[in-house]
Amino acid sequence: MNVYSTFSRTVQFLCACAVVFSLSVPYLLSQAATEAECKTHLQFLASDKLLGRMTGTPGNDEAARYIAEQFRANKVAMPGSMKTYFQPVAFLKRRLTTSGSLIIGADTLAFERRFVPANVQAALLSGNAVFAGFGVVDSATKRDDYAGLDVKGKIVIVQFGENDSTEVRKGFNASFRKREAAEAKGAAALVELFTLENPVVWGNVVSIFKGSRPELASESKTHPMNWLIAYDGGKKMAMKLAADAAQKRSIAVSMKLEPTRSDTVFSNNVLGVIKGTDPTLSQEYILLSAHYDHIGTGKSADGKDTIYNGARDNGMGTTALLAAAKHFAAKPPKRSLLLLACTAEEIGLLGSHYYAMNPVIPHKNVVYNLNTDGAGFNDTALVTVIGLDRTTAQPMLEEAAKANGLKAVVDPAPEQNLFDRSDNVSFAKFGIPAPTFSPGFTAFDAAIFKYYHQQADEAGEDFNFRYLTRYVNSFVTATRLIGDASQRPRWKAGDKYEAAFKTLYGEK
Ligand SMILES: [Zn+2]
Repeated sequence: MNVYSTFSRTVQFLCACAVVFSLSVPYLLSQAATEAECKTHLQFLASDKLLGRMTGTPGNDEAARYIAEQFRANKVAMPGSMKTYFQPVAFLKRRLTTSGSLIIGADTLAFERRFVPANVQAALLSGNAVFAGFGVVDSATKRDDYAGLDVKGKIVIVQFGENDSTEVRKGFNASFRKREAAEAKGAAALVELFTLENPVVWGNVVSIFKGSRPELASESKTHPMNWLIAYDGGKKMAMKLAADAAQKRSIAVSMKLEPTRSDTVFSNNVLGVIKGTDPTLSQEYILLSAHYDHIGTGKSADGKDTIYNGARDNGMGTTALLAAAKHFAAKPPKRSLLLLACTAEEIGLLGSHYYAMNPVIPHKNVVYNLNTDGAGFNDTALVTVIGLDRTTAQPMLEEAAKANGLKAVVDPAPEQNLFDRSDNVSFAKFGIPAPTFSPGFTAFDAAIFKYYHQQADEAGEDFNFRYLTRYVNSFVTATRLIGDASQRPRWKAGDKYEAAFKTLYGEK
């Protein structure tokens, strides 16, 4: 026995006392799920065998099957007229591009090392290219980087981002708008120079754009334009092209590529229902959601093949959902529960979006969504609730954490815009009050980035399963308190989703 385990047993003892004196929590909910159960779920979901649970892969299917079998074993009902726990979602998955060439001026760019095609309609394309700065068109600010340029039928080259900022996420969000802009201008191809000097991010770019990223079949559209991303860390090429353009020197470009082909693949949202005990309140549903997909396999920073196990993201949340399913199937709250294990969160919240567009319980009957998702944790005394102070359920969320020896805190990294980056937003958009329950973190710092979308996000024996269990039981306790409360929660006055709330529930 080591010093740490003696210490943690003392802490456990103290916390058990705290629960006894916490009168507003009706059960000893800190024991709803045992550490052994939580560990089993997490270690299965994060096992190498599931190969990172990427949407549309067998490992993702196996995770869905595991969740459904847990629902079945615990006698969770299938919702509405469903004869299965699965809601199939069709995705178009691009076949992997394996080769290609891109020549810009005198530079021959190596496939993958220097460029990756994101969409290919014309396999062979060459001509003089037009350099269009950052390629931004924004009607709100009346900015048009194409002003005075004719790019119809031409190859356009732009540089990453909207300005000299090095923010990766903003830059990529802008990429998709630039694609739309170039397409609207009638360009034949868009080459975006990724100018950040960051080979690790470049590695991620390659794996995302090479062709592994599925899109919703129900919402996909064909893009007529070639779209390529090229690595230009240090901006040498961007500066030369800008000078060429200023001097009106021509920029010869040629590309030889494999045309994009897609296959239809299926993945599933997993759904279950637990009927509430109160004749009136049971007509209201609380939606408990967690995404079970992750980002699959790829190359780590040191260039080695790796599995992104996704223990924290979002094996922890899925474990919480499974624990809630088991606990509430045996002891339902007054309100009914709709359980949703979402697929395809990592590729753009697509599973929850699909469900929100194809609900099995009308949204107006769903009074709250408690989503659980997270990047990781750096403080095991906390639960971080993204949107904690945005709904009137705040005291119940705080009480639930407290009953399990934890403290609920607000999102410490508003600059990350986390509220709008998980599945809760698919429901908030409809007006449903919808915070995200996350493992405790005090900042998006190195301790988080060590695991966030990294190969290190595993659930080995050194994982803090004691914390996992408290986290899971806090989620269960919060569900109990909200499920039994006399008043249903609402957005706090003035929230940006309040108007949608009023429309959804028919309030003036
Ligand atoms: Zn993630």
